[in-house]
Amino acid sequence: MDAVYLDHAATTPLDKEILEKMLPYLTEIFGNADSPHALGRKAMNAVDNARDCVAALINAKPNEVYFTAGGTEADNWAVIGGAYAAKEKGRTKLLISAIEHHAVLAAAEKLRADGFEIVQIPVNEGGRCELNALEPLLDDTVGLVAVMAANNETGAVQPIKELADLAHKAGAVFFTDAVQAAPYMPLDVKALGVDMLSLSSHKFYGPKGCGALYIKNGVKIKGHVVGGEQERGLRGGTTNVAAVVGLAEAYKKTVENLPQTTETLTTLRKAFLDGLSVLDGITVNGGNEGDLPSVLNLRIEGVNNADFVYSMDLQGVCVAAGSACASASIKPSHVLTAMGFTEAQAKECVRISFGKYNTEEEVREAAKKAVEIINRLRG
Ligand code: PMP
Repeated sequence: MDAVYLDHAATTPLDKEILEKMLPYLTEIFGNADSPHALGRKAMNAVDNARDCVAALINAKPNEVYFTAGGTEADNWAVIGGAYAAKEKGRTKLLISAIEHHAVLAAAEKLRADGFEIVQIPVNEGGRCELNALEPLLDDTVGLVAVMAANNETGAVQPIKELADLAHKAGAVFFTDAVQAAPYMPLDVKALGVDMLSLSSHKFYGPKGCGALYIKNGVKIKGHVVGGEQERGLRGGTTNVAAVVGLAEAYKKTVENLPQTTETLTTLRKAFLDGLSVLDGITVNGGNEGDLPSVLNLRIEGVNNADFVYSMDLQGVCVAAGSACASASIKPSHVLTAMGFTEAQAKECVRISFGKYNTEEEVREAAKKAVEIINRLRG
């Protein structure tokens, strides 16, 4: 029995068409993109094309796109590099939303240990970071504000343009982690008004271990990986040409298919919810108008989320209790507690996330299994 995969917020499978486009750069055109000979130049040509492609898709200039080894690295770089650059201007306070991914939160914690002041921006009960939450925290000591474009646990989309405008009025740099948003909504860095934005390829059917950071020209940021002159001397390391090609091709395909994807995922999400409507004590967490169509975060009263995930797995359905990056931890989700859930309530919450290869039939079947499991676990 093939597993029914409903955990696309954790990762997506590599699209076979994208793999085909990557393969030549793993075999024949294996040159180091920085080598001056023909094989190196061919590889660099592919990297240049990938950079042009990503830049065009987010309305940036090619020299504003830096490739990294994933979303975590891009987030770490934006936060740590941004903080140290701001410090040179005497700004040592960072405002970080309470629902950020651990890649941002942990980077901020590291900075706290290094003497920076870190202040959390609270969110409302729908998981949204409101302007009036940010405004009172801003002053002329704030160097960097970080609010993700869409949350990975609830799908809550944030008012990035308005938040970035506020941050700029106070003279701070604004960074958004768009890792979860990129597969499901158009991103235009100019319209959003952001200074930095991160992407991760494996969330949109590209390869794992590849990401990108947009850094607006003129924005000061410290270099991140030393030891090579790659990525304009800011992020050293031999370029992973095949992965970079895969990221660009996968992102292009994703953006081209956005309207269709939204329609498909909205239908799948509704099908799963409809299937659960026979039960009482199920509520959708977040799920505001305009939030990502891919994610369904549910509180299932009387059911421990780890038991649910395990039982669904035994029935061949992959779902999550929250962010995969924190799944080794027994702590309740920081995103849900920031939204006002008690720890006990947060442990009753699960994340179901849909993808383009799911069928309505398998989603309905998975919902049926969920109903049986919930009834059994509730005794
Ligand atoms: N930010 C968000 C919002 C994410 O969901 C993830 C992946 N879970 C990351 C950052 C980290 O990206 P990567 O897995 O590419 O390191």
